[in-house]
Amino acid sequence: MPYTMRGGHVPIRIWTDPAEVEPGALDQLRNVANLPWVHGVAVMPDVHYGKGATVGSVIAMRDAVAPAAVGVDIGCGMTAVRSSLTVDDLPDDLSRLRARIEKAVPVGRGAHKTAVDPSAVPGLKERGWYEFWRGYDELAPIARSRRGRATSQLGTLGSGNHFLEVCADDAGAVWVVLHSGSRNIGKELADHHIEAAMRLPHNQDLPDRDLAVFLSGTRKMEEYRRDLFWAQDYARRNRAVMMALTQNVITRHFAGKRVRWDDVISCHHNYVAEETYDGVELLVTRKGAIRAGEGDLGIIPGSMATGTYIVRGLGNEKAFNSASHGAGRRMSRTRARKSFTVDDLIEQTQGVECRKDSGVIDEIPGAYKDIESVIEAQTDLVEVVAHLRQLVCVKG
Ligand code: 5GP
Ligand code: MN
Ligand code: MN
Repeated sequence: MPYTMRGGHVPIRIWTDPAEVEPGALDQLRNVANLPWVHGVAVMPDVHYGKGATVGSVIAMRDAVAPAAVGVDIGCGMTAVRSSLTVDDLPDDLSRLRARIEKAVPVGRGAHKTAVDPSAVPGLKERGWYEFWRGYDELAPIARSRRGRATSQLGTLGSGNHFLEVCADDAGAVWVVLHSGSRNIGKELADHHIEAAMRLPHNQDLPDRDLAVFLSGTRKMEEYRRDLFWAQDYARRNRAVMMALTQNVITRHFAGKRVRWDDVISCHHNYVAEETYDGVELLVTRKGAIRAGEGDLGIIPGSMATGTYIVRGLGNEKAFNSASHGAGRRMSRTRARKSFTVDDLIEQTQGVECRKDSGVIDEIPGAYKDIESVIEAQTDLVEVVAHLRQLVCVKG
């Protein structure tokens, strides 16, 4: 059950003890709850300070959206699928499988060439690629010179917090789970609109420049929505392409077996959706939160070596049908680099086939909150469908 926090013109419902939340994040939440357009704020148990707006928050507004609150990785999210393989099918040494996945799915720094033409991949063929790329021509003019890169980065992971994992659930079934967003084109579009919003006259007296909004019925809002929804689609397709590449690798790697796959689960955790609550049409920004409407399947990852939960939404409207997007950071990247060593990383990732070098220390499990407590704090938002533990974790 949520705590209720005052300090805005709407109550802030929060699924963790506010006393445990950093003061900076609480200030961000109060600022949001004071915006004239805000209809409600719901805060998830993975909440922490974020650029633009608190990570782990849901901001429901009437006739307005704040592009900096949506953030620069428009459509960032997770995709997961269960296979018919079981842990008994896997060799003890998973380094070869990891190497094959790393080769097939480019991380995508710079202008990588994608290994596939997505329209040629079975299962991805029928997805309206022609209309999708035609939509590109309608985007803001800054997109024009970036089309080549947007094409070659489709199906690439991105660095830092993005990952691709092979996992096993408690029944022994093998899963693939991955995390990525709209890559460079999403960021370029987001930056463009964030700056445009900050220049608008109605945004000059805000407590925080990052809360600059576009208003419904204006041309600027229409332009933002067009680019936003396109970038969200790009992010979903990006993950779908990588998932198909990984499925192909696994199918070939276990050539002696017939591998079957369930339906793929995909959820954004940085995005905007138009939703109606009590007859009121709202623009709901989930900034580090997933949709958890009744029956919706979602993915809540912990960290490199602490597992991931597949969940089903319970449709709690007080939370605007949402749930947490992960465990959430316990500390900043800088503090993580100061607090932990490579030895800590090796110890905390035991049993997982993954990078264990100084380049990923800021992603060490100890830098994230305890995923079990985060899941326990939201039993009125989601129910657990499966619990996965990592076998292989590829980091960008
Ligand atoms: P974000 O999108 O905010 O960067 O990350 C989403 C969540 O993913 C984090 O809050 C964290 O709980 C989780 N996470 C970060 N790195 C990993 C990883 O390598 N594997 C898994 N399974 N989860 C991770
Ligand atoms: Mn991202
Ligand atoms: Mn993300």
